[in-house]
Amino acid sequence: MNFFGKECVENNLKITPQRTEIYKELLKAKDHPSADIMYKRVRKNLPNISFDTVYRTLMSFSEIGIADIVEGYGDPKRFDPDIRKHHHLRCIKCGNIIDFRCELYDDIEIPEEIKKEFDVTKKRVIFEGICRKCKSK
Ligand SMILES: [Zn+2]
Ligand SMILES: [Zn+2]
Repeated sequence: MNFFGKECVENNLKITPQRTEIYKELLKAKDHPSADIMYKRVRKNLPNISFDTVYRTLMSFSEIGIADIVEGYGDPKRFDPDIRKHHHLRCIKCGNIIDFRCELYDDIEIPEEIKKEFDVTKKRVIFEGICRKCKSK
């Protein structure tokens, strides 16, 4: 939470009880929640908050770099509190996004022809498939 306060101050984002609560809830999340899911969770402690506030807050978190928007493939935007290097397993059945770490992929080499066409700002490996829960159904 110190990190949150510091980043907010540095980026001129006012620290409000609502923002603090939303960030706390996002930090707890291991499932890369959508704004909709975040809204449901945050409402338990802040019953009067609007979906719009939750959505805009998550967007400003991503703007100042304390959260990530991750690949959604046309689904609603999904948010990730973990801004360290990591990679994703994405279940094509339930849409679950699971984190994994692999140093080898962190340093993945960008092919020259891509470098010419495209400025890569982030490298993430995504495996798609069927998660354990869906497989056992
Ligand atoms: Zn699944
Ligand atoms: Zn992640």
